[in-house]
Amino acid sequence: MIEQAVILSTGDELTTGRVLDTNSTAIAYELQGAGVQVAAILKIGDDKEKLLWALRRADELGDIAIGTGGLGPTADDLTTEVVAHFLGKELKQDQSVAQVLKQRFAARGISWTENNLKQALFPSGAAIIPNPVGTAPGFRVELSPGKTLFWLSGVPQEMTAMLEQSVIPWITEARKEAPGITSCMFKVTGLTESRLDELLSPVVLGQQAKLSFRAHYPDLSLRLSVIGGGERQEIADRLKQEIRQILGSYIYAEGDLTLEEIVGQLLKENQQTLSLAESCTGGYISHRITRIGGSSSYFVGSAITYSNEAKVHFLGVSPEIIERHGAVSRETALAMSKGIREQSGSTYGLSVTGIAGPTGGTPEKPIGTVWISIAGPEQTVARLFRFHGERERIILGTSHAALNWLRRTLEERSILNVS
Ligand code: ATP
Ligand code: MG
Repeated sequence: MIEQAVILSTGDELTTGRVLDTNSTAIAYELQGAGVQVAAILKIGDDKEKLLWALRRADELGDIAIGTGGLGPTADDLTTEVVAHFLGKELKQDQSVAQVLKQRFAARGISWTENNLKQALFPSGAAIIPNPVGTAPGFRVELSPGKTLFWLSGVPQEMTAMLEQSVIPWITEARKEAPGITSCMFKVTGLTESRLDELLSPVVLGQQAKLSFRAHYPDLSLRLSVIGGGERQEIADRLKQEIRQILGSYIYAEGDLTLEEIVGQLLKENQQTLSLAESCTGGYISHRITRIGGSSSYFVGSAITYSNEAKVHFLGVSPEIIERHGAVSRETALAMSKGIREQSGSTYGLSVTGIAGPTGGTPEKPIGTVWISIAGPEQTVARLFRFHGERERIILGTSHAALNWLRRTLEERSILNVS
């Protein structure tokens, strides 16, 4: 029965404070969603003896253990060796993994070095966990009778893919006979964690249900889990409805979707198109939009108009507007969104212009002042936003606010179209 897990994050970069251990947080969150409790999270450097110590602790405390890091080809990557030693197993080369590695190198025109074969070595008896986004696969072994150890790549993006595609489905399958769990996730934006907590405080959860938050600026994820037999589904449905009622359009998705995916879906459904005029975000919103496969069916293009001259030249903003009101103003934002909409012939034009800092702020227009404007078929509107923090954070917040406002506009339009 899988009830308790131990997470092992390894690498000198973690114990020296150079890299933040985000892997264990992400794993803990997914485990919780799968109904598994985390007994402990251990952070260990690249050291054989300490790794052996951690494996012993994991075996004591957990029904399963999930480790990350140290699977690469270099000398400091010693995980596989140490795990094999712990289990008293030989290392065995997996021919098909070796083959795939060689093919990958050849396909990319990178010269092959023999140390890469290290990534094709696994403790004998291990099942291989494919790495869909990188080179080093992970593995699953029996840690001790009835206990399972998973080892995944340290690269967060690779770790996430392996966790979601292999580990969690395996755990869910293994737990099927056990008392079940129903869970769902909401993606929320426009609220702080404390405000979200406050808004949801009237929800009566009872014995079986639990709400958990995960804040990842500027997003919040809210997970509802209902454990136990009987009326689990009914309880989940009722609570979901209550949460939806309270949070309304602060919820932008149910399930693990991004804001840009939702915006894309809405544009596609309505057969509408979008173009952007970006100043302080420097193309970041366009990047978010075009990261989604198939975005060409609704995204026309963008102009990154950073200077005043570019705003005049590419978007047709009149120099007098900028002269009189400034580049960061309602008037300039309106002229930018109108300009890009007309230039590109898209259904919507969206513009942002603001001060991301660290310099350029004034008492009237402090750092973080951002005007966002949406030009649509019926009207062109602009809104003032204020963000706080460093440059990167302001850019991120701006991109999110712009996409979220666009989402709300598109949702309202969809409702109008339907009725
Ligand atoms: P590679 O094949 O790239 O060597 P690996 O499985 O050996 O992968 P590591 O070498 O330990 O993994 O780490 C790869 C990268 O992932 C490093 O940039 C490291 O900073 C990052 N990383 C490792 N562990 C974590 C973690 N727990 N949280 C966040 N980032 C991590
Ligand atoms: Mg490595």
